[in-house]
Amino acid sequence: MRLLVHDARLVATMDDARRRLPGGWVLVEDDRIAAVGTGAPPAEAVDRRLDARGKVVLPGLVNTHHHLPQTLTRNVPRVQEAPLFRWLVELYEVWRVASEESVDVAARVGLGELLLTGCTTSTDHLYLFPRGQERLIDVEIAAARDLGIRFHPTRGSMSRGRSQGGLPPDDVVQDEDAILADSRRLIREYHDPRPRAMTRIALAPCSPFSVTDGLMRRTADLAREHGVRLHTHLAETKDEETYCLETYGVRPVEYVRRMGWLGPDVWMAHSVHLSPEEVALLGSTRTGVAHCPSSNFRLGSGVAPVRALLEAGAPVGLGVDGSASNDSSNMLAEARQALLAHRIGADPSRWLTAEDVLWMATRGGALCLGRDDIGSLEAGKAADLVLIDTRRLSYAGASSDPLAALVFTPFPEPVDTVIVNGRIVVEGGELVGVDVPALVARADAVSEGMLRRAAAATGHDYFRRDRA
Ligand SMILES: [Zn+2]
Repeated sequence: MRLLVHDARLVATMDDARRRLPGGWVLVEDDRIAAVGTGAPPAEAVDRRLDARGKVVLPGLVNTHHHLPQTLTRNVPRVQEAPLFRWLVELYEVWRVASEESVDVAARVGLGELLLTGCTTSTDHLYLFPRGQERLIDVEIAAARDLGIRFHPTRGSMSRGRSQGGLPPDDVVQDEDAILADSRRLIREYHDPRPRAMTRIALAPCSPFSVTDGLMRRTADLAREHGVRLHTHLAETKDEETYCLETYGVRPVEYVRRMGWLGPDVWMAHSVHLSPEEVALLGSTRTGVAHCPSSNFRLGSGVAPVRALLEAGAPVGLGVDGSASNDSSNMLAEARQALLAHRIGADPSRWLTAEDVLWMATRGGALCLGRDDIGSLEAGKAADLVLIDTRRLSYAGASSDPLAALVFTPFPEPVDTVIVNGRIVVEGGELVGVDVPALVARADAVSEGMLRRAAAATGHDYFRRDRA
């Protein structure tokens, strides 16, 4: 199967030279990119041609942090004004009624949104397994395969319940042996280490306030034994810092360092509250960071020192984070948040540029996920491409820099075409083979059912605002 994308308004390669090719073309052969260029495209016969006139062509974006099941608990009135710890304590009570049905519909909504905003590879961090619901990651993987997105689910976990000084209720945490056994199972059944793999597993104990030391250490050993990556939340809020100082006698970064959790096979979510020494340590160990500005604003967590992390050598990617704190899975909107997040009070010479945030959304994300076969348009890389039609009101008048326009606009349009591993999964701004109105109706019904079940169990009214 040979496919030619031709006559683009601009091809932005995001390779090391960060080339911008007006009138560019991309030739795809099966699951990989065969050639990229500008001027007359190759004359060889192709099976399909995609006219990219008026369109900017980018490598597929990479999302480095998400909690797909949260898609059904967006902007819950009771926690619209809650910071992280109260938000978690309230929402654990809703998430604990999750089921295969709710995770399936939530994953389809979240992954669909990601595809429509140019994301071709996403991770997920699912860490709450209600009793008897141990196959939720399998359900997400099936949804990702249906939609055609490249997927790196992480086997999340919690092992420190309230009675052990943790934040989550005791009956939603699992014991270490069960977590490690299921981690091994998922690696065995799904992890594909080969180039251009569509599914890879990583291991992800949830956060310093919900896991035991034993789980952190044993998970790191297991991941390294199998060559899979490690992920967790780190230094997200001041409350977490206080918790670590009171519980472990050290700050969060020192805690994970002692657990063997710094290195090029680890990426952290957030990393907002870092000292200059901790930034240097993440940089020198090449520990990755998933920057999630929307979530950090929404929960009042703070602004991560992204410029300093990049300068220190840490791979930094972008993450939309879960939809209970974003409240969407829009990768282009997230890139815009990153563009704006670092400007207030900072010297303009240190502001992130549009190209910086697009680099994080592509190459930085690929580095976090440990992949050298995605994130840029170069011969030999996986055929993950996004075509964005700039003949839209949002982009009108921006012809001086149509690439930057994609992230300067506060109103990113659905992208026109998305190709993942050579397969067209979004066409004409629509998900291929997905009945969106039916999916939305199902999501709303399942979401409401979850909130009503949680309300019946807790006596809380999830439909009323706490500050109403
Ligand atoms: Zn998160």
